[in-house]
Amino acid sequence: MAAILDGKACAAAYKANIAAEVQQILARGGRKPHLAAILVGNNGASETYIASKVKTCGEIGFESTLIRFPESVTEAELLETIQKINKQAEVDGLLVQLPLPAHINEHTVTLAIDPEKDVDGFHPGSLGRMMLGLPGFLPATPKGIMMLLEHYGIKTSGMEAVVIGRSHIVGSPMSVLLSRNTEPGNCTVSLCHSKTRNLEAHTRQADLVVAALGKPEFLKADMVKPGAVVIDVGITKISDTSSPKGYKIVGDVAFEEVAQKASWITPVPGGVGAMTIAALMQNTLEASLRRQGLKQA
Ligand code: NAP
Repeated sequence: MAAILDGKACAAAYKANIAAEVQQILARGGRKPHLAAILVGNNGASETYIASKVKTCGEIGFESTLIRFPESVTEAELLETIQKINKQAEVDGLLVQLPLPAHINEHTVTLAIDPEKDVDGFHPGSLGRMMLGLPGFLPATPKGIMMLLEHYGIKTSGMEAVVIGRSHIVGSPMSVLLSRNTEPGNCTVSLCHSKTRNLEAHTRQADLVVAALGKPEFLKADMVKPGAVVIDVGITKISDTSSPKGYKIVGDVAFEEVAQKASWITPVPGGVGAMTIAALMQNTLEASLRRQGLKQA
């Protein structure tokens, strides 16, 4: 039976450290780190993610500002607001919650964010720095997974790793981070996607599998090597009449059966989701330390 990579507990430990650093900043005469977030429309999942980011800011002593726009906002209006926040000296981090409505170009919006405030790590400058191994903001979900592996002392060096899903925000950067010359890292990585032939042949060879495709319970026990480390990024809401809420959150891994075979596994919820927020907060803290001249870029 696999041991649990407890994202909730790990995130709590990181958040306690961040909260302690905030107290030190204040004691040195600095100000609270400040995260600004822009939310467009009323997408239920986005509302939930933003609410938990704002709540976490309060818990760890950050300032936060939430700017909401209706679905009908124009790209020009959104860009104008981003430019305004870019210039606000007291704001350290700025994120625009994705996805955006179809009439707004996500790349244009991402590019408009000041790279020094790009705490989601989606700006091409941040992604380029990641490719080169230079210091910068790493995308929050892959960064959170690396923090989780490090926290549990999982030695990934030399592992065969398979990442399923190649999105710009999760799968692709995850494959880069796992292949970098770092610990955790130093994996030999295969990046699989919807056109991959015989995906099972890849996953059965893998010492580490990261499932990030958004297909509930896709990864079954017969697709996993005994003793593999399994990371489940998926979050899908499915209806569940037995739950008081009427729904449950399901990952991309068939948890019960895969847990019988894996050595380590992340649960959903309480795994990668919690770490994503902790990583975002870590990025915001670093942005603030640099902005306040308390840390070198
Ligand atoms: P996405 O942009 O929809 O990308 C999905 C990827 O999976 C694509 O690369 C797609 O391949 C691939 N894929 C789809 N079906 C496949 C199949 N049958 N076999 C192999 N590959 C397949 O998704 P995303 O934004 O990366 O999110 C993935 C999941 O993670 C979602 O459930 C999302 O809600 C969740 N998520 C969780 C967190 C967190 O904090 N836990 C953060 C972000 C996202 P193609 O490129 O060929 O289309």
